[in-house]
Amino acid sequence: MTKTPRFWRENKNRYNLIGVKCGSCNAVYFPSRIICPDCGRKSMGKMDKFKFSGRGTVYSNTVVHEAHEQYEMQKPYAIALIELEEGARVLGQIVDCEPYEVQIGMKVKSTFRKLGQDGKSGTIYYGYKFVRERE
Ligand SMILES: [Zn+2]
Repeated sequence: MTKTPRFWRENKNRYNLIGVKCGSCNAVYFPSRIICPDCGRKSMGKMDKFKFSGRGTVYSNTVVHEAHEQYEMQKPYAIALIELEEGARVLGQIVDCEPYEVQIGMKVKSTFRKLGQDGKSGTIYYGYKFVRERE
């Protein structure tokens, strides 16, 4: 299993919710960008690593009924576009609640979960998902 360590290295930014912050206008982006689309050339070399808190609000959502084979056991499941409290928007699965309970404006936070499994190699993939934030 030499594939697993490479996957982990490549995806470190994804499971830690690390993006970038523009040193020119302070806008945050996830996933990372090399140049800020608003500042263009002015932002070159000023895009610093930025770790998101993982807290956010559901901006829009949908329920997925037809899933790829490896996600069979989880369907139907909720997918939402989440507006992180720092401003960036990220697509993620909402877990630990009924898919139809997910509503626009619901408070969520990221959590580290198993994403799926490669049927052939048995490799398990991890990453972030979102759960409802209890008040
Ligand atoms: Zn900028």
